[in-house]
Amino acid sequence: MIIDSFGRAHDYLRISLTDNCNFRCFYCMPDEEYDFTPASRLMQKDEIIKLAELFVSQGVKKIRLTGGEPLVRKDAASIISGLGKLPVELVITTNGTRIHEILPELIAAGIKSINVSLDTLQADKFFLITRRDVFHQVRSNIELLLQHKIYVKINMVVMKGLNDSEISDFIAWTKHYPVQVRFIEFMPFSGNKWTSNKMCSLEEIIATVEKNYEVLPVKAEPHDTAKSFMIPGHEGSFAVISTMTAPFCDTCNRMRLTADGKLKNCLFSEGETDLLSALRNNEDVLPLIQSSIWSKKKELGGQLNKNFEHVDASSITNRSMITIGG
Ligand code: SAM
Ligand code: SF4
Repeated sequence: MIIDSFGRAHDYLRISLTDNCNFRCFYCMPDEEYDFTPASRLMQKDEIIKLAELFVSQGVKKIRLTGGEPLVRKDAASIISGLGKLPVELVITTNGTRIHEILPELIAAGIKSINVSLDTLQADKFFLITRRDVFHQVRSNIELLLQHKIYVKINMVVMKGLNDSEISDFIAWTKHYPVQVRFIEFMPFSGNKWTSNKMCSLEEIIATVEKNYEVLPVKAEPHDTAKSFMIPGHEGSFAVISTMTAPFCDTCNRMRLTADGKLKNCLFSEGETDLLSALRNNEDVLPLIQSSIWSKKKELGGQLNKNFEHVDASSITNRSMITIGG
């Protein structure tokens, strides 16, 4: 078991397969000229599997593949097949563009739940946010997943003046559509020009939904990062990921492995531990994992606090979201 100094057991690993992406979402990857990490510096397939096996031997029960866009990696299918053999719940967060190309492999690997990012239900706004004209491809891939009985969660980062006016549209969508929409509070990362007035809080999101609907809270599972709700008569449901205004650090069980093999003990951690170099030098990796997690800060990487109005994004030392793996 991998435990931190506050007694939190860590059994959930998020692995970034790449910092490359076929989208250009400004809140994640601000600069069009961003240089992707060269392939030689990324974890190779056998290195990913080896590290994942080590984590699993230490009690990890769930692995999420993310990125960048995990499915743009050429050997994504083969990595997924390899990880699918481990005794873990394997899940993915994706922008949804490539699902139709890889669906048989996803099913064969036993993947039962996929998070698809979709910040708007409007094709023109989708282009504005992602700089790519593939709204209909993503929508049809969500359909495809549902047809194959894969549970779909929709990640929607809510930003004031951009898509906050669509909160009710997303809720209306869930009336006959069996997905969970997860409204995510906009978070500050290196270079994403975050300011508190662009952020829509848990309280504001719930107040917006309650204008038109009866909202019932759903009992949280241990380690849930999302506060879940249902609306009577709706096939789908919704949740809010309130990292900024109501974080869930007390029960955190998450570790993050970046595509270049660095372990981050928190999304907002300042430091990181280089597991890939140690693996390539035949060093013992386990003590590095243990000491990294032991040194995890109590809350939000020790860099943020719940008074989000006073957060100065420029003073945070971190990577951009695309290089961490959200
Ligand atoms: N490319 C995949 C995707 O878009 O789902 C996986 C990687 S992406 C970094 C993972 C999630 O992080 C997405 O749902 C994205 O919307 C979210 N995200 C990125 N930047 C964010 C930010 N600044 N605040 C909140 N969520 C963010
Ligand atoms: Fe790419 Fe996902 Fe980041 Fe958008 S949110 S730029 S799709 S990694």
